[in-house]
Parts: sequence; C-alpha cells; structure tokens
Amino acid sequence: MNEIVPGHILKRHQDNILIKKKYDPDTLKNLKKSIKKLLDEKNGVLISHYYVDEEIQKLTEETNGCVSDSLQMAKFGQTTDANLLVVSGVKFMGETSKILSPEKTVLMPTLEATCSLDLGCPIEDFKDFCDQYPDREIVVYANTSAEVKALADWVVTSSIALEVVEYLDSQNKKIIWAPDKHLGKYIQTKTNADMVLWDSSCVVHDEFKFQGLQKMKALHPDAGVLVHPESPMDVINLADAVGSTSQIIKAAKELNYEKFIVATDKGIFYQLQKENPNKEFFEAPTAGNGAQCKSCSQCPWMGLNSLENLERTLIDMKNLIEVPNQIALEAQRSLNRMTSF
Ligand code: SF4
Repeated sequence: MNEIVPGHILKRHQDNILIKKKYDPDTLKNLKKSIKKLLDEKNGVLISHYYVDEEIQKLTEETNGCVSDSLQMAKFGQTTDANLLVVSGVKFMGETSKILSPEKTVLMPTLEATCSLDLGCPIEDFKDFCDQYPDREIVVYANTSAEVKALADWVVTSSIALEVVEYLDSQNKKIIWAPDKHLGKYIQTKTNADMVLWDSSCVVHDEFKFQGLQKMKALHPDAGVLVHPESPMDVINLADAVGSTSQIIKAAKELNYEKFIVATDKGIFYQLQKENPNKEFFEAPTAGNGAQCKSCSQCPWMGLNSLENLERTLIDMKNLIEVPNQIALEAQRSLNRMTSF
C-alpha cells in the first residue's frame, strides 16, 4: 500500500544527502583545482543544468560558466568565446549545443545520460505518427533526439512552449506535439489549440501524485506549491505557479510565501536555497497511490554526472558529441526558431 509517511515526505532539502554526492574536503578541493586548470589550458567552459549535482553547479558558477535551463544552456554555448563546451546534463543537451555551435568541441562527462522523453520518441515511430497528420505543424520538446528535431518544424523548451503554441494557434495552425503528454495537455488546456499529442512522459515528473501533494498541502497550509508542467494535470491544478526550472526559481523569489513545496527534480534545490536563504523548500511527495517510487524526485540520468567523470572527460578529451551533418543542418532550422523566438 502506498501510504504517505509524513516523516519521510517532510524531510527538508538540507537534510537530504541523496542530492549531494559525498566528497571528502581534500578530494573535492583537488578535483575542482584540476578541472579549473584543465578548463584554462583548453579554453573550455562548463555548461550545466539545474538538475545536476550541486558541486558541479557550484564549480560552473566559480568558473564563469552557465548554470541554467536547457534554453539558456543552448544560447550560452553559441555566445561564449570558449571553443570547448563541457555540458553536464543529458544527451540531448550536448547534441543541441553541438548543432548550434558546430565549430566548437562539445564534451559531456558521460554519454550514458539520456532522458525518458528522448527514449520514448524513437524517430521511425514518430515519423509514422507525423505521416498521419500531414497538415499539422510538428512542435517537439527539446528533450528529443537530433533526428526528431530534424523532422520538426519547431523545437521548444518548457520556458517558451506555451508562447510558441499560442503564436501558432493565432496563425490557425494545427499542431502535432511530442513527446511529453503532460506538458502537451497543459498547453492544450491553456491555449485551446488544436493539438494531437504523442504519448510519453518524464520518469521523474510523472511520479508526482495528486493525493500525496494534497495531503502535504494540508500539512503545510502556509506553503506555496511550485510545479513543473511535465507533471500530471491534477498535480498542476494544485500549483500556485507552474513553469520551467527558470520560472520556478523566479516564482520562489517573487511569490509571497516563506515555504514552498516543489514538484520537480531535487537538483533545483541548490539554486532555490541559494537565491532564497530565508525560505524553506520541501520536496513534493512521489509516494502517492500509483507511484512507482518513493520520494526519489531525482533524474537517474542527470545523477550520472559527477566531478570525477567531468575531470576524466577533460583529461582524455573523450565523450565527444557528434551529430551527422545532414541531421544537424535540418535540426538547426527548428532549433534556430527556438533560440530566436
Ligand atoms: S528529469 Fe525527466 S525530462 Fe529531465 S532529463 Fe530526466 S527524464 Fe528527461
């Protein structure tokens, strides 16, 4: 039975060691020193997502890199003077950087880090799906392979998805949306746009459950609720603010609450706590009825990035991201629409 245990779900971020890889102080100091030296020698820069280990996020900040959501990560890679981009996140983020900056070298700490949305939208199946609706614009989420992006008319991230669909709807365009069904449903509800949705979801956000969140809200009636729109619709309906990682960070600053329950990957707590040292943040429970795991709220692939494999990839110059030319050229078209929207 999936009953909620308040002591479990009320664990504060600061007490939660799962998010922090444990480094002894000397190891941490040496790893950071070594990575900084390698970046200097190779004219490299770190580009890291809000969901990766907080020591990677801290090092990225200390070295004037970019810690952000996937849209800003993509843009930063294009504008930096560095010619080596070291992307900590998941595979599609490295691919996007390479497609938008083909003249730069792009490395990732691991090539094993993928995404359930990317895996859930194989190109051949998606092509068959699109062939059924030849009169529709194909709008895909950034969390897809380069091949799927190459097929698409538009690529969007969660920070601009709503605006892009609103724009297309205003042009009387009908839309194919892929791959995240929850985000698609949320946008469809907000815009009333004519959309057909691909059926896939994020393994992390799909686990947030209405019943568990409702119980947690009852225990913390004074807390605001921040929800990423990859979560199920009934969870979104309980939110005080719904948005991308950047929008969640902004809402935590601006909303007049001292406490927040947060339904997204727990990697974001580093930034939330840093930006709001006097506010309290709690993980939304993933232990409601029907959930497959209990309060993990951590992407298994984002968690594969570490300072150790980051250092190793810089030493060996391995885990290079390459995208075949023709696919890169076609994906560039839809990605450029995203970055210039
Ligand atoms: S958190 Fe979800 S959407 Fe993000 S990389 Fe992991 S599986 Fe993909």
